[in-house]
Amino acid sequence: MTVLKLDRDPDPEFDNEPDTGLGLIDCSRCGFRGRGISLCHCPTCHLTFTSITGFDDHRTGGHADDSRRCRTPEQIKERGYDTNDAGYWRRPMTGQLDHWKK
Ligand SMILES: [Zn+2]
Ligand SMILES: [Zn+2]
Repeated sequence: MTVLKLDRDPDPEFDNEPDTGLGLIDCSRCGFRGRGISLCHCPTCHLTFTSITGFDDHRTGGHADDSRRCRTPEQIKERGYDTNDAGYWRRPMTGQLDHWKK
């Protein structure tokens, strides 16, 4: 079994990314458009994550018995994730939790 696991530095702030076409997400199914080198948009539940780590973490179940599925937003929150100002899921640093609350 092959698991794609990229452990790059989580740096979710790509607001000033030059227009290179890299990392452009254009989901025809939910209409989401976003840009970010490490941005991950789930084609199943259409949540957007600021890193592959968060994306991986919201998937659960096994490949072997085909029980692979997405966690619900409630379950994702229980794992310490929250949305940032752009609505992307990320895991706030300890001590910055209040910053991400509206
Ligand atoms: Zn999903
Ligand atoms: Zn989508």
